[in-house]
Amino acid sequence: MSKQARFEGDLFSSVSRNFFAPLWAKYEGSPYLTHLKRFEKTQYADRDDMLKWQWEKLAKLFQHAVENTAFYKEKYKGCRLESLNGLGKLPLLTKDEIRSRSDDMIAKGYDKSSLFRMKTSGSTGVSLELFMDEDSLQWKRGCTVRHDMWTGWKFGERVGAIWGNPEQFADWRAWLRNLLLLRHIPLDTLKMDEAVMDRYHETLRRKRPTVLFGHAHSLYLFAKYCESKGYDDIRPKGIISTAMVLHDFERVVLERVFDCGVYNRYGCEEVSLIGSECDAHSGLHVNMDTLVVEVVDGEGRPLPEGEAGAIVVTDLTNMAMPVIRYKVGDVGVLSNEFCPCGRTAPLITSLQGRIADYVQLTDGSYVSGISLTENFHMALPGVKQLQIVQEELDRLTFRIVPAGTWKKEDATALDGLIRKRFGATMRYDVELVASIQSEDSGKYRFCISKLGEQPF
Ligand SMILES: [Zn+2]
Repeated sequence: MSKQARFEGDLFSSVSRNFFAPLWAKYEGSPYLTHLKRFEKTQYADRDDMLKWQWEKLAKLFQHAVENTAFYKEKYKGCRLESLNGLGKLPLLTKDEIRSRSDDMIAKGYDKSSLFRMKTSGSTGVSLELFMDEDSLQWKRGCTVRHDMWTGWKFGERVGAIWGNPEQFADWRAWLRNLLLLRHIPLDTLKMDEAVMDRYHETLRRKRPTVLFGHAHSLYLFAKYCESKGYDDIRPKGIISTAMVLHDFERVVLERVFDCGVYNRYGCEEVSLIGSECDAHSGLHVNMDTLVVEVVDGEGRPLPEGEAGAIVVTDLTNMAMPVIRYKVGDVGVLSNEFCPCGRTAPLITSLQGRIADYVQLTDGSYVSGISLTENFHMALPGVKQLQIVQEELDRLTFRIVPAGTWKKEDATALDGLIRKRFGATMRYDVELVASIQSEDSGKYRFCISKLGEQPF
């Protein structure tokens, strides 16, 4: 393969970084650039100092929540919080509580209409609304920029955004802000056919963004497309994959096609960025400047490091609507080992998708949908895309986009794998489809369980 030149920032990058960014921040009254300076230091701060800082923030948040919101006053009646570790004894905050008690969660002194509404897409059913104050938003914005920079991207450089969010430039101000400051090149994922992906390629080749950003699966589909066409001229410094689990096989393809590192990122609308990979790629550094992240068992008790469980987050910054011990709905593993990159935050070493995406076996045990689809995908060359739907405990539907024509050998191989993974008693149907529908958010679910039971 010929060696194509790496994309570098254009002349306007430094104008944007040194002139428009500070000017715009001043005009808006946004302190995120000041926060960014702080975060560039705290990423290397002593971990014990960071934990001490977290405890100070948490103690204040707890007191504030109990004194100023009807919801936490009632929820934490009789509860005390005396250390950072003591957090694990407080009851969890559920999505249902946020849905039904949202008004009671807003602290005295905050006017709901002046807060930022964060709305989740409700991928597992009903959507969720959460309110965030301006200070918290600015803080998180600073964090996100720091993590973007881990890819080698510099503030002001163009970003290729493979993302389903066309309303982003709704008014002239947003448009101008993007032109001068964000410099996002929007590549809409709502429809990703060959003609659309060819346009992505042409746009990226011309605009030369130094980082590509998008859903893992959309990035992967685009990489596969480029490879099939022999395009080897998209050369960003790094790729940020987010919003869904990044499979190893997807990472390999992205690295090969775009000849750069892939930086996995994990976050959610409710609290923004939770963890982000650095150039050591040994896990995702927890965003300690904003969150306390725990991994817990089915009863909400913190698990020892290295064990998979439900991810629970506490947002240390949103005083308008405190979010304490919120169960995000995803499964992960934490490690306290230190990363070779020198940054001190602990690592999320494994992300195993959503709790709702686990498949239950007939013996009652659970398998992560992500690992299942990965396994099927790798073992069956006739499968281009796959979604597993658990209809009943002993009945699955396999939705398959075939790589070519679905042959008898493919069906036999699939049956063999199903017997190996699920035993002789599992019944199943195969639906051959032209494409697998993404959700409104542009995410794509690998596994859908219609059973009520969950492992955590
Ligand atoms: Zn690191």
